[in-house]
Amino acid sequence: MKQDRPEQWIPADSAVDHYELVVVGSGPSGRRAAVQAAKLGKSVLVIEGRKRVGGVSVHTGTIPSKTLRETVLNLSGWRERGFYGRSYRVKRNIDGDDLGNRLGKTLEHEIDVLEHQFQRNGVRTLSGFARFVDPHRLVVTCPDGSMLMVSGERILIAVGTVPHRPSDIPFDDRIILDSDAVIEAPRVPRSLTVIGAGVIGIEYATIFSALDVAVTLVEPRATFLDFIDREIIDEFVHQLRDRGVAFRTGSQVASVTRNEEGQVVTTLDDGRIVRSEMLLYAAGRMGATASLGLDACGLATDGRGRLAVDPVTFQTSVPHIYAAGDVIGFPSLASTSMEQGRIAACHAFGLPMPPAPQYFPYGIYAVPEISTVGLSEQEVRDKKIPYECGIARFRETSRGHIMGLDQGLMKMIFSLKTRRLLGVHIIGEGATELIHIGQAVLNLKGTIDYFIENTFNYPTLAEAYKIAALDAWNRMPRDKA
Ligand SMILES: Cc1cc2nc3c(=O)[nH]c(=O)nc-3n(C[C@H](O)[C@H](O)[C@H](O)COP(=O)(O)OP(=O)(O)OC[C@H]3O[C@@H](n4cnc5c(N)ncnc54)[C@H](O)[C@@H]3O)c2cc1C
Repeated sequence: MKQDRPEQWIPADSAVDHYELVVVGSGPSGRRAAVQAAKLGKSVLVIEGRKRVGGVSVHTGTIPSKTLRETVLNLSGWRERGFYGRSYRVKRNIDGDDLGNRLGKTLEHEIDVLEHQFQRNGVRTLSGFARFVDPHRLVVTCPDGSMLMVSGERILIAVGTVPHRPSDIPFDDRIILDSDAVIEAPRVPRSLTVIGAGVIGIEYATIFSALDVAVTLVEPRATFLDFIDREIIDEFVHQLRDRGVAFRTGSQVASVTRNEEGQVVTTLDDGRIVRSEMLLYAAGRMGATASLGLDACGLATDGRGRLAVDPVTFQTSVPHIYAAGDVIGFPSLASTSMEQGRIAACHAFGLPMPPAPQYFPYGIYAVPEISTVGLSEQEVRDKKIPYECGIARFRETSRGHIMGLDQGLMKMIFSLKTRRLLGVHIIGEGATELIHIGQAVLNLKGTIDYFIENTFNYPTLAEAYKIAALDAWNRMPRDKA
């Protein structure tokens, strides 16, 4: 996606060179930290290597992939197929332009909102790549080649990550791509191999599969998405197999080449061969720290370019330098990155920080979507907590009937001893929205009785909470603890 509006940026020579906070990177963590510090009356500069603000989240990650997903669901008529059958389509022959149109408009709007947010809060932005020269100063190489020195009383490293591109994969960014290139100029191939069944690989594999692309998912490990409850993954795999997604798990990639017909040939170490029109390599990302000059400020990264921080304050080992977002590793979500940035800014300027909530939700925007909060059944068993589960299928709800949903389920886990909710796991339409009810009850230490005793809007998919809770309640001791 090309965005050429450099005039939006403050010219390099007009920038004040000393700030109370300098933020490197304008993604979710950098943005939140910058706005928080500005609201405290601090002078703040955000340096961004791209022409426009937003980070990976806006340009190649969260927003574009979710926009692509929405476009695919709408144009393919995916949500209506429960009623009208598998062959139902809103638009036949969906091509790259169809996907790109909505993407361009959404991103433009998103960036506009961010630029306005910076302006409104008096945050200065500077286009250029920053590199440390000492623990308080950074040199910025601007797009016109000019160099500018800036210094910060406090500095936040919010540089995020870049896709891992192993040298033995012959990337050409057209046929053999990483997750940045796949969204730059989307195409709809007839067949696609996805290497890496992490969240990004899974999302793209299922989005393309919803377009009737023949997808093969290659994952070296025998299992994937291990942090998700197994029952949900079993349901997920069942649905994907049912619509023709091929799984090649438990084998390493031996080589990726192109044959004479132009196909990508992926050879696995067990001898199996996968041929496809396009290949997406989505096995891992690296902290974008390689050219940040970290040695000049006394910091070092791990083997994947990530920085270690104090998990409460987000300070690095150099106390006035903070790091937040994907560059510090797990959970590597836009949602958690924002909170990390805000907390870092609060700590940097002496504002009391509320303790982080115990549980945050995880959203996987695959087709179907998955969302989870709290403990999985495996974790509950490992902790030896006596528990009971309840299951609701979306087809048991009236809203599900109205929407024509024949798939989707919610699983809830409760403590037998305290009756408290321990975890909620959802697969299906609206999972990433529905999860927040469970999240609230979980973090407020609520029990099964909340779901049994309260009235829910009808007809809604949220009714699944009541159905799943009643399902568990049927097998639980009747008396409240
Ligand atoms: C395909 C994909 C889908 C995703 N989907 C989701 C999702 O659905 N939900 C979710 O919560 N998260 C999702 N994520 C993760 C989310 O995008 C990241 O967690 C989030 O963007 C991390 O934010 P950040 O603050 O670390 O900065 P980033 O968004 O990573 O941005 C960092 C910025 O720093 C800039 N930068 C780097 N080095 C320098 C330098 N030296 N000087 C100046 N600027 C520099 C970069 O140009 C970049 O713009 C997804 C990620 C990907 C790749």
